[in-house]
Amino acid sequence: ASDFSERVLAVEPSATLAVSKKAKQMVADGIDVINLGVGEPDFFTPEPISQAAITAIESGKTSFYTPVGGILPLRQAIVAKVAETTGQQLTPNQVTVTTGAKLSLYALMQTLINPGDQVVMAQPYWVSYAEQVRLAQGKFVPVQTDRQDMKLTPAALDQVDGPVKLVILNNPTNPTGQLYSQAEVQALLDWANSHDAFILADEIYGQLVYNGASFTSAMALQTVQGSRLIIVDGVSKSYSMTGWRLGWTIADESIIQQMNKLLGHMTSNPAAVSQYAAMAALQTEPAVVETMRATFEKRLNETYDKLTAIPGLTVDVKPEGAFYLFFRVDPAILAKLGLESTIDFATALLDQAHVALPAGEGFGMPGYMRLSYAQDQETLDRAIDRIAAFVNQAE
Ligand code: PLP
Repeated sequence: ASDFSERVLAVEPSATLAVSKKAKQMVADGIDVINLGVGEPDFFTPEPISQAAITAIESGKTSFYTPVGGILPLRQAIVAKVAETTGQQLTPNQVTVTTGAKLSLYALMQTLINPGDQVVMAQPYWVSYAEQVRLAQGKFVPVQTDRQDMKLTPAALDQVDGPVKLVILNNPTNPTGQLYSQAEVQALLDWANSHDAFILADEIYGQLVYNGASFTSAMALQTVQGSRLIIVDGVSKSYSMTGWRLGWTIADESIIQQMNKLLGHMTSNPAAVSQYAAMAALQTEPAVVETMRATFEKRLNETYDKLTAIPGLTVDVKPEGAFYLFFRVDPAILAKLGLESTIDFATALLDQAHVALPAGEGFGMPGYMRLSYAQDQETLDRAIDRIAAFVNQAE
């Protein structure tokens, strides 16, 4: 018997981190690897945000535990931002701030899920949702999506047998970059409401939408208090703050209270310095986010054109959000390269062409690869050239 718990043994290591780890080792060995594997903006955290953290340190705001769910002024800043962007008036008691959005998601699963409860999401899905559901002993239920846009729909949800406890809507989506329209969000809310299911909208990429597309937060359509709508968001992606580890959950006060009970035993509170930084982020000039967003938009347009010009690599619907391209590798290409799966493709691409990309298998979608364009254009261009040369050997 193993010394380790069945719980931990059942967890799959993060597929995106695995590729990235091997890539980092190759870099350490002096190999010129281009890593487009991670979901991490390449910009420095904007200066006014870092400055707010420095000020917090210098004024001694670091020698106390904060309230479990975060300092009141930060929760007030979140409330103000939500009012401005969605029109919904929250109270700070409907918000809990956590060590990254990832911990919000984890604490939420632990708060809502009983053994066997069904948690439904679109396939492909972000890996951590699946593992977090398993850690809560829930039943992870990925549903097939239309191959074109890979979005969750009421029709797909209708295919699930038995009661659904929670529906996960990630909008915009990791790994596909797809964006749900207002009507699509509304339809999913309607489905959840008519089935008494909770619906979790993970809107962490909400500010990163492109080419004139508009993002609809589920909070623009439904109140959280008295409903089963839950929102997860954070500063990592929009403000280039992944290292600060700061995210939050917005939900009915009763859910937040239960989560806080749990979080009180897990972290006590997110790092105080990061909370002051996040407060500054929410209060920065819109131009700060806009500059980064516009840069991602240019990269999306250039990289999409160049990637899809490579014969055998396809993106059926051009993404409108996040910073990923999820592309299909024609099985004929795999066959010509003597590879059996996209996992093999990822390994060969890293070993031979020195480009690190996670395979679709990690997102429940064999046959696909994910490319993160959170890198400067010159690096992206070099990566595309290498991918093209690698694929063209198959000709
Ligand atoms: N949700 C999605 C869909 C993500 O892609 C990520 C990060 O990769 C997160 C949540 C977690 O973000 P963080 O924990 O950095 O706030």
